[in-house]
Amino acid sequence: MKPPMRHLYLHVPFCPTICPYCDFHVVRRGPGLVERYLERLAAEAANLYADHPGPLATLYLGGGTPSYLRDHELARLFDSLPWTFEAGAEITLEANPGTLSPARLELVRSLGVNRISIGAQSFQDRVLDRLGRAHKAAAALRTVEHSLATGFRVSLDLILGLPGQDVKADLETAAALGVGHVSAYTLQIEPGTPFALAGMTPDPDREAAAFAAARTALGRAGLTRYEVSNFARPGEESRHNLAYWRMAEWGGLGPAASAHFYTPAGAGVAERRTNPPLPRWAVGESPARETIDPLEHAKESLMMGLRVREGVDLDALSARSGLPGLREVLERAARELVPTELLVAGGPRLQPTAEGLDRLHAAVLSLWEALESAYSEEDS
Ligand code: SF4
Repeated sequence: MKPPMRHLYLHVPFCPTICPYCDFHVVRRGPGLVERYLERLAAEAANLYADHPGPLATLYLGGGTPSYLRDHELARLFDSLPWTFEAGAEITLEANPGTLSPARLELVRSLGVNRISIGAQSFQDRVLDRLGRAHKAAAALRTVEHSLATGFRVSLDLILGLPGQDVKADLETAAALGVGHVSAYTLQIEPGTPFALAGMTPDPDREAAAFAAARTALGRAGLTRYEVSNFARPGEESRHNLAYWRMAEWGGLGPAASAHFYTPAGAGVAERRTNPPLPRWAVGESPARETIDPLEHAKESLMMGLRVREGVDLDALSARSGLPGLREVLERAARELVPTELLVAGGPRLQPTAEGLDRLHAAVLSLWEALESAYSEEDS
């Protein structure tokens, strides 16, 4: 029997303002829009529950800005989720600074949320202004302080390597706050966003220096880099995101949410389901379904699994993909990569080195080439 779906992502697409670098599926509130969203969400949750009754180990409310929903809307949203939770389940709410007062934090806690992911991005007002963020640094500091005082596990999002940013100051502030988890990103200039249209381009040297500074400052505060962009104190890692990197099964609710399920033998290895954007999702359009074949699954598992220091369990991947001799193919390719010092090979897991996390692309591409030359012809 298939194990139960233990992980669920729920997309809340509403934001008070749309940041100029954002390429997530986000909208502003409009008359009746949240009402229609909540109605459709309840129906979608009931359908998913019928096939995947859990219980859940993790629930992640992302967006958008889930904390931008009003109190009664948040309560109604949680009311419409039929799942029960495993003991010690992780329930995360993404929040923007300024959207969570102490009273709201109490409400959110009473709904079952135990982890808050705060989109601080920077603690410098001029940088926040340039990013087009709706909040000031003081609001971010207050939200972190109140969240910790209310007893939540807290994760901070930071953007590093921005023009005019004092990276060291931002990292030192983050390190001193006592949070258990920091996600540190460089600004992605996505095509079509206002930043891209204004001709902004990334600066890889400045970004590399910013990440080196992050390793030092956050490391001193006991937060170690367990994934390319994520730092945590021991036990504070994001269990929900680990499910993605480990290629577990997860469900998705809400517009543009995606899901990943394994399929019965003979029907490919896995299926990715992606919900349509809000206007089509709200009228009940079904998700797009894409079958992931064994080779693609192996490639995706390497790309995701090598983002994490724990790496990829080779026997588990071989069993999931069903590709004959997969472990040997990967071990051979990894041995050739050993001189590059990007990977640790030879044990039951293929793991990135600290250097490998910085230059993952090169290692993953070599492994992909080995997979393609071993299995592409067989498929044709
Ligand atoms: S707050 Fe986050 S999700 Fe909302 S527009 Fe800004 S970057 Fe996008």
